[in-house]
Formats: sequence, structure tokens, C-alpha cells
Amino acid sequence: MKQICVVGVGYVGLVTGACFADLGNKVVALDVDQKRIENLKKGIMPIYEPGLDELVKRNVGAGRLSFTSSYAEALKGAEFAFIAVGTPSGVSGEADLQYVAAAAKSIAQNMTGPLVIINKSTVPIGTGDWVADIVKGAQSREIDFAVVSCPEFLREGSAIGDFMSPHRSVIGSLHREAAEKVAQLHLPLRAPIMITDLRTAEMIKYASNAFLATKISFMNELADLCECVGADVKEVAAGMGYDARIGRHFLDAGLGWGGSCFPKDVKALAFMAKENGLTPRILDSVTEVNYDRRRGAVAHMAEMVGGLKGKTIGMFGLAFKPNTDDMREAPSIEIVEHLLNAGAKVRGYDPVAMEVARPILPAVEMFRDPYEMAAGCDGVMVVTEWNEFKQLDLDQLRAAMKQPVIFDGRNIYDPPLMKQKGFVYRAVGRGARPA
Ligand code: NAD
Repeated sequence: MKQICVVGVGYVGLVTGACFADLGNKVVALDVDQKRIENLKKGIMPIYEPGLDELVKRNVGAGRLSFTSSYAEALKGAEFAFIAVGTPSGVSGEADLQYVAAAAKSIAQNMTGPLVIINKSTVPIGTGDWVADIVKGAQSREIDFAVVSCPEFLREGSAIGDFMSPHRSVIGSLHREAAEKVAQLHLPLRAPIMITDLRTAEMIKYASNAFLATKISFMNELADLCECVGADVKEVAAGMGYDARIGRHFLDAGLGWGGSCFPKDVKALAFMAKENGLTPRILDSVTEVNYDRRRGAVAHMAEMVGGLKGKTIGMFGLAFKPNTDDMREAPSIEIVEHLLNAGAKVRGYDPVAMEVARPILPAVEMFRDPYEMAAGCDGVMVVTEWNEFKQLDLDQLRAAMKQPVIFDGRNIYDPPLMKQKGFVYRAVGRGARPA
């Protein structure tokens, strides 16, 4: 059993804390957001993540997991402090490190014994050294510490499974002893452990996210060509995916990537390249292709319903992906903007993200049920591939709609079946391209 402090109880910090507690460690999770901490103490989760509620309650009940907003309390007796605060995009695409800096400073001011400080946040290359300088400068007396990078690769929606069964644990530090202590902590996960230097570990995280985003943008560019030449991008992806050198993952064409990581991480990596005098041609294109997806989807819908002015368009799904309520950089936000600019009225339904979405999309009329939302719609767009939408009663859906028009932005339906059911249906990369 190790004593661990986790700084920041968001998607990564809360999952990290709960999972390490479940592995038998004693974890104190800290956040500056006092409301968040008060709610967690009452058993109210700040985010929707499958299985998290039960995991947190079980470990709180067993006395292994607790919450606080006091750094002094969180660091008392801790051997490890994970920094898991946000690193959003700054104005020029750089990672904004103000939360990391504040966390490092608070740790330095409140640590009472030797500590391994672990950056779990996705941070620009060189941040580990910078955090070490902040800690050294903010300590009131000299206490031993080491900074280790241990980037997180979990995906929202399957975060607990991803944390508990990672493909690898990457640990970077110039202090071998500290790196090995962190490796020990990860041994129960039974994944390959790679120990490397700080900067390389930091780069592995950005490189991984940017590469995955590149795969998706590549397939999206291909999807447009498939529409022009009459090929089916879903079949193309399947055919490519059999090749072990390519792999099937992240080959799904659609509305492009969103969320709290890919957009900011691709931009931050491109920013770092520019800062170093390089021209990140691939990275810039990956982002550009991605944002065109939203415009392209709205062009499809406009053509299918004969112009958007005065039309009512429904959105199946608002969250940036299924099984989460995260709306950060969700494609739905841009799609709604394009639809409203074109004079359409917009309705929305999402199984879990509506509460989070409401203040972000105030002009969207929200419904509690997908059929109710579709009733009276001139067209519906599938924006998030929640399983719920795959199981809809298509006859009931068609009967409810003013015009049975569906643009399937996530390729969840079978085109021949949709035609047979009487829908005017288009998917991504599987048929006509808008004029
Ligand atoms: P989040 O916004 O959900 O959570 C961050 C939390 O940190 C918030 O609760 C905030 O109140 C708290 N915080 C901010 N400043 C603080 C401070 N000084 N002291 C204590 N708490 C503080 O963020 P997230 O999505 O969990 O992401 C955290 C980091 O992990 C980011 O760098 C992100 O890129 C990376 N990451 C995220 C994911 C993901 O799927 N969300 C996956 C891998 C890596």
C-alpha cells in the first residue's frame, strides 16, 4: 500500500485516484473546486463515466479514497503526488500551463517529506524540468523531490477499463530511483512499462494523440473522395484494417474528432514545432481537414432538405463521443452554429450530455426522447454514435418525422435498410457528394 495524492479530480484525476485506491493504495484526491469536493464527499460524481460511481463509492467505503481541497491534508504522509489538472489551448494553440504551475507551487508549499511528483497532465516537452524549477523555488525549506512524467492514455467513456488495462505505462525521469518507484506503482496493471527520460515521455503522449488524429483525418479526406468516385469508405476501412501494419482502429470516417484532447494536443504539438522553427505541414492539415467535416455535414443536410432556412433539424447526440457527457470541442457545437447561421431551427437529444450541453447550446431545443425530438423534424443528423441510436425503431422514427431525411454523420445505419424503410438517407463516404 502506497500513500498517494492526486491533484485535480476531473476525468483523469478522479479515475486515476479511484483506480489506484482500488489497487489497494491510500489515495487523497484534491481539487481547488470546492463544490466538486463537497459533492464527491456526498457521493455525487462531477462527470459521467461508466462504472465510476460504483468504483468511487466502494473505495471511499473501504477507507482507501478520500477528497479534500486542502493541499496540506492531501500531502500529509504522501509518497507520490500526481498532477492531473487541465492543460487547455492558449490563444495561439500553445498549452496553457497556468493550472500546472499553480498545482506545482501549492505542492511545493505544502509538502512535508520526500515526494515523487508525477505529471499526468498532457504537457509540452520540457514542462517536467520547468515544474522542478517551480517546486525548488517555492519550497520554504529544502525537501527531496523528483519529477516524473507518466502521461495518461485513457479514453473517456471507457476510462476505468483503459486505466486498469493500459497498452503500456510510459514513465519518464532523469531520476532512475523515482522512475522505478512509479513503475512499482504500475506493476499491478500488468502492462509493458517503458522507462525513458522526461522529455521523451512527454513527447510520446503528444505523438500518440497526434498520430491517432491523423489516422482519422486521413480517412475523412478519403471519405470525400469515396463519395465522388462511388466507393464505400466503411468497407475501405475494413479492408485496410485487416493489414496488421495499418490496424482497424481510428479508421472511422465521420464528423471528425473533438473532445478535450485531440484538438488541443494537435495544436500544441504544431505550436511547439513552429516555436522551434519547423513547419508542421501534416499537423496543420490534420486540424484543417477535421474542421471541414462539420461544414461538409451541414452542406449534405442543406441539399437533402432543399435549403436550411426555416427548417427544423434534429441532432442525435451532442457529446463529443458516446459514453461521456463531455462537450469540450464537441462537433455538435460547430454543426449547430452552421445550422443556425443558415436559418435552421435546431433540436437536440443526447442520452447523458444534455445538462452539460444546455448552457453551451442555448439556442437548441432539448428533448427527453429521440422520437419526440424527431417528430416534426425536416431532417435529423446522427452526430454521436450512442448505441441507443443503433437500436431505434426505424418505422416509428420515419412516421414521426415531417420529412424522413437522415444524414448519418457516424455511419451507424445500413444504407440499403434505410432506403427500404423509406428514408432519404446519406452517410459519410458511402454515397452522393453534395453539389
Ligand atoms: P478536467 O478539466 O476534467 O479536470 C481538471 C481538474 O483540475 C478540475 O477539476 C480543476 O478544478 C482541477 N484543478 C485546476 N487547477 C487546480 C489546482 N491548482 N489544484 C487542484 N486542482 C486543480 O481535465 P481532464 O480532462 O481530467 O484532463 C487533465 C489532463 O489530463 C489534461 O492535461 C489532459 O490533456 C490530460 N488527459 C485527459 C484525458 C481525457 O480523456 N480527459 C486523457 C488523457 C490525458
